[in-house]
Order: sequence, then structure tokens, then C-alpha cells
Amino acid sequence: MTDFTTYMCQANLIGGAWTGADSGKTIDVTNPATGEVIGTVPNCGADETNRAIAAAAKAFKSFSKTDLLYRVKLLQDLHDALMDNQKSLALLLTTEQGKPLFEAMGEVAISAAYIRWYAEEIRRAKGEIVPAPSAGRQLLVTRHPVGVVAAITPWNFPSSMLARKLGPALAAGCSVVAKPATATPYSGLAWGKLCEEVGYPAGVVNILTGSARAIGGAIMESPDVRKVTFTGSTEIGKQLIRQSADTVKKVSMELGGNAPFIVFDDADLDAAIEGAMIAKFRNMGQTCVCTNRFYVQAGIHDAFVAKLKEAVAALKVGNGAEDGVQQGPMIDMGAVEKVEEFIADATKKGASIVEGGKRHGNGGTYFEPTVVTGATADMQFATEEIFGPLAAVFKFDEEAEAIEAANATDFGLAAYAYTRDVGRVFRLNDALEYGLIGINAGLITTVEAPFGGLKESGMGKEGGSQGLDDYLETKYVCVAGL
Ligand code: ADP
Repeated sequence: MTDFTTYMCQANLIGGAWTGADSGKTIDVTNPATGEVIGTVPNCGADETNRAIAAAAKAFKSFSKTDLLYRVKLLQDLHDALMDNQKSLALLLTTEQGKPLFEAMGEVAISAAYIRWYAEEIRRAKGEIVPAPSAGRQLLVTRHPVGVVAAITPWNFPSSMLARKLGPALAAGCSVVAKPATATPYSGLAWGKLCEEVGYPAGVVNILTGSARAIGGAIMESPDVRKVTFTGSTEIGKQLIRQSADTVKKVSMELGGNAPFIVFDDADLDAAIEGAMIAKFRNMGQTCVCTNRFYVQAGIHDAFVAKLKEAVAALKVGNGAEDGVQQGPMIDMGAVEKVEEFIADATKKGASIVEGGKRHGNGGTYFEPTVVTGATADMQFATEEIFGPLAAVFKFDEEAEAIEAANATDFGLAAYAYTRDVGRVFRLNDALEYGLIGINAGLITTVEAPFGGLKESGMGKEGGSQGLDDYLETKYVCVAGL
């Protein structure tokens, strides 16, 4: 039987050595499906982080000068190591995070795909020769690894969020200090073991767990860390941007979302329901691209709600490690309470619960997949990220009204629309202030395309050819006197 402990590391990787915290302190890691403690991880702070940064800075000197094909081969081997251990890594992910096993299998596969993508893309990371304005000169534009990269990642995609950062960093020749989320550290630490196994030199990949404030503080203060790549909440992202000022670090930020999902009267209803289910209930609604607001046109509204209710009621809730489960537990009690707060606020302001609406009979952090109708702009979830299995349905009449409502948020990550009107598709692409737009599609993330938000959803892109840009510095070299 596949064992989730094969890649479960209960120590940190600093400069090629697996170690505990200086204080000896640890943090318990629990399985949200059962509430059981599955293990511990070191509770590290600033001192360990500074050692990791020093190790990364030392390793960068040699790793950044290695042959391109050596780095490509390491990435290819890393891809293969992930896929060879897909089931074990997926079980580990489900055990610490709660998502259904089929989703965890998918996450490990996309993690591997990101690694392979960057093994391919780095071979095309070309510079330029620019026509010189005067004779006897050559103007070269060259690209160089940015330096030590710090990667801070969240609990909702503990494997793939790191893959998107490790892939381009290692491809470019950067070294990395990574800090996975405290709730889900093992999928992050597993990258350390995998990288070690395929032969990355000591210090190229360092992974720390512990106090976010202390580790984050040391990272942000260090002049040796040249780039910080963060996925998480807008609040912490803004704080890191502020902290980056003193050492003028490059930053890329994948922050919160408030995705609208617009269903027009002319939509293919079944396709819209299929898209709605995946865009809303994947990972129990805990993704930054999850639908936050359904806007449904009056003519199709009742039929859409009836079918959505039916599909939501049929979802199988349980321990994600069990066969056939589609909805696991939420990450913690705070997440449950937040969803309850949204439902209480909405019903007080006139919304109706048509499905679910309360904690699930399984207990713990399980919550019933929920649908509410009669949503209005004054309700809390109109402007705040739900991050849970709650579908809020707003009704609208005109296209312009839906676009205006969709854009009425500080966020700008993902938006979805279902329509068969080609003209409208282009109007939407133009009008929606979002970095990712799914037309007749509820799941659009893919390694080949740039993922990233507009407005307060972030800066920088992950994936696509653009995903390398943040890890490469550009130099202009003028060679004169030729
Ligand atoms: P989420 O709401 O998705 O948990 P957070 O922004 O709280 O998002 O966390 C995302 C990541 O940022 C986690 O790894 C978390 O430990 C880390 N983090 C939280 N606070 C800080 C901080 N002050 N400095 C650096 N990293 C932090």
C-alpha cells in the first residue's frame, strides 16, 4: 500500500543538512479530516533563516554558473521523481490539507508539469542584440539569474504553489529559501527531499518551517535575498511589499481574489453548471481563483439555481483520502467561522439559503456545501473573499450591469463568463478587469499560460513564458570602439 510518510520530513533543510530548530521547539501538524496530530515540524526563527540565506548565497555563486543543460537535466529528474511518487505525495497532501485525493493527485501532476515547463522554457530565455544608433557599437541585452530567491507559500496548494516558484528559480540558476505554510508544511518539505535525491547541490534549496513573522522578517531584512515571491493573502502581501522597500527587492505577489462568474441567458446551462461546480467547490472553495460571486441573468436564473442546488446536494462530503469523496474538511475552524459569518450576514440582509448552510454532521471542520440566492452588493461576500464552499447567487438583467458589478472590487484575479455570443466574448475580454478570464470554462490554470492578478490581486506572472521574467535580471551591455 502506498504510504503517505515516504516523503514526510519532520526536519528543515538548511545548507544541505536536515535540522531542527535551535530552540528544539516544534509545531504539531494535524490532519483536518480527523483532527489527529500526524507529526511535528521545527519551529524555526530568524537565526535559522539567516543561516539558510547564507547557505543559499554561497550556493548561488556556483549554481548560477552551471551549464544550462545540467540545470535542465536536474529539473527533468525532479519532474520524474514527483511523478514516480505521485500517489505517496498526493496522500501526504490530502493528509495535511484535506482536499480529496483525486485533487491532490492532480496537484502533484501539475507541480511536475510546472517543473518540466521551466526545464523547457529556460532554453528559450533569449537575450537580444539591439540595432545600435551609431557605427562601431554593439548593444547587447543579456539575462542573468536574479540571486537568492525567497518563496513564501500558502496552505491551499502546498505543492503546486512552490512548484511555480522553484521551477523558474532553479531553471534560471537561482538558489531558494522556501517557507511553506505552517498548516501544511510537509508537501513543501517534500520538495527538499526530492531535490536532494535528484542531486541539487547543498544550499541551492533550503526549506524552513516556523514563525512566519520571524522567518519572513529575516527574509525581508536580508540584503542577500534579491527576490521574494509570495502567494497568500492580500494583507500579508501588502506588508511584504512595504518591507521589501528597504533593500529594494524584486517582488512577485499572487494575492486574494473575488472572482465573478457571469451566466448569460444564452449560456449552455449544463456547461455552466459543470463550470460552476469546479470553479466554486474545488478544494472546498479554498482557492484564490474560486468563484466568489455568481451573477446570473434573469431569464436563466431560476433554471441555473435549480440545477446548481441539485449538483451541490449530490456532492459527497468526507475524508478526502476515501474513495469517491468530492468535498473534504475545511482547513481550520477559523475558515468555518468565516463562512458562517458570511451566511449570517447575507441572510440578515435578505438572502435565502437554498442548499446547505451549516456545519456538516461529520463534525470537525466539515461544512455543508451551500447555495444562497438573493445576494446583493451590500452583503459582506460581495467585497470579501469567501474561501469556502458557499455559492452566492446575484441576479442581473443587462450585460453592462453585470460587467459593472463584476469589476466593483479591489481584486482582479480570475473571472468567468458563460455565453454563446461571440461579440459579447470580446466585449467581456476587454471590459473585465481581471488577469485570468475563463469564457465557457471554469478551470483554466495551465502551465503554458501566465497566471497572475490585476489590481490588488498581485503583480507578476507564474507560468507561461512570462513566468521566468521575475527570476532573470536584464543587463544592457554596450560594446564600443569596434
Ligand atoms: P492564507 O490566508 O492563505 O493563509 P497568509 O497570507 O496568511 O495566507 O499566509 C500565506 C503564507 O505567508 C504562509 O506561509 C504564512 O505562514 C506566511 N506569512 C504569514 N504572515 C507572514 C509574515 N508576517 N511574513 C512573512 N510570511 C508570512
